[in-house]
Amino acid sequence: FRCLHCAREISRRDHCRRHVLLHLQPERWPCTVCYRKFSRRDSLAYHLRAQHPGSEVSIISSNE
Ligand SMILES: [Zn+2]
Ligand SMILES: [Zn+2]
Repeated sequence: FRCLHCAREISRRDHCRRHVLLHLQPERWPCTVCYRKFSRRDSLAYHLRAQHPGSEVSIISSNE
């Protein structure tokens, strides 16, 4: 099974379903600069480029 949100491959169906739920949580991807929370990794990546250009901010997951 493959996650549609992050393209991660997950071997077990129940694990995949639980994993997908993580993407639906709005606090999954916090901005480390202004602490806004994003539900999707690409939303956070876009925010970082738009709001914090030039800053060396790495994208982190709050659940790992
Ligand atoms: Zn995923
Ligand atoms: Zn920010």
